[in-house]
Amino acid sequence: MSSPRIILNAEPDRYSPAARDILQGLGEVWDKRPLTRPQLLAHLPRAHILIVRLAHHIDAEIIRAGQQLQAIVTATTSLDHIDLAAAAAQGVTVLSLRGEETFLRTVPATAEHTWGLLLALVRHIPAATAAVQRGQWNRDQFRGRDLFGKRLGIIGLGRIGQIVARYAHAFGLRVHAYDPYLPHWPDDIERHLQLDSLLATSDIITLHVPLNDATTHLIGSHELALLPPGAWLVNTSRGAIVDEAALLASLQVNHLGGAALDVLAAEVAGVVTRHHPLIQYAQTHSNLLITPHIGGATADSMAMTEIFMAQKLRSFLEINQSP
Ligand code: NAD
Repeated sequence: MSSPRIILNAEPDRYSPAARDILQGLGEVWDKRPLTRPQLLAHLPRAHILIVRLAHHIDAEIIRAGQQLQAIVTATTSLDHIDLAAAAAQGVTVLSLRGEETFLRTVPATAEHTWGLLLALVRHIPAATAAVQRGQWNRDQFRGRDLFGKRLGIIGLGRIGQIVARYAHAFGLRVHAYDPYLPHWPDDIERHLQLDSLLATSDIITLHVPLNDATTHLIGSHELALLPPGAWLVNTSRGAIVDEAALLASLQVNHLGGAALDVLAAEVAGVVTRHHPLIQYAQTHSNLLITPHIGGATADSMAMTEIFMAQKLRSFLEINQSP
């Protein structure tokens, strides 16, 4: 009798029951608890399939430990948490949401969070809520700004960027964007061929590009200086797309009006602490909001993507039968 196919789910916390049912039809599912890195390394030698979210950096050491691995399954579009070259060298397939355009158009969570962050920033919602929790009732302290009529600059007009553009139109914003790679440009969005011209004419900038060599520190001190004084920046993409030291400096000299971030560069290495310079600034300034990478993390969107990925794994295994 051949040994069962082992499906190791390294981050099973609140995993979709429907997705789990599909996985159980494919093999023996190991998903008792979230795994630490040493536990992951210890379990991997017996695993055929590894399922991850974003808690681990799936680097060459982890991939090497999975000597029997056929596939790594990640319900994300971004793959910067996986060493793709190491996976390819070992013949391990990476199954993800990348390129699943039709399905992804039905997943709004990160675009909705982008909008939530923007509203929270311009209307001082977290600080106002905290004041009421302390028993204060002072409406003059939290005078915000309107979005109506402002100029929104979207960098990266892919799936999330285009949903954000739809919300922006509903709010009466003037929407323009920069995306040199987009094949079909939507009629209702003004196109900029240069990033600098978009920055110089935007009251709000929102980032929706993938992290790669070309987009690392895409927004640095030069780009921040081009923004009109008082502009706001929202980043729900990846932390390293912004030069965080330059961002902090721009906030400290009151050039940038405020920023809202769902991502920090340090999270990739798992080293975000309260000593992080941006978190320290946010502790004493209400014009910097930081959420812990929750953009895509709604119960609805996560269940949808987990079921989709379990079905994608089933199709992959039907084509690649062993073991
Ligand atoms: P997408 O691939 O649909 O769109 C990305 C767009 O960026 C594409 O249109 C591409 O042409 C454009 N682009 C690439 N390089 C560029 C550059 N240098 N300048 C301008 N435009 C450029 O991706 P998406 O689904 O919209 O997601 C965008 C990013 O959001 C992901 O890569 C991921 O990092 C991030 N994300 C975050 C969360 C979260 O929880 N916060 C969830 C999902 C995705």
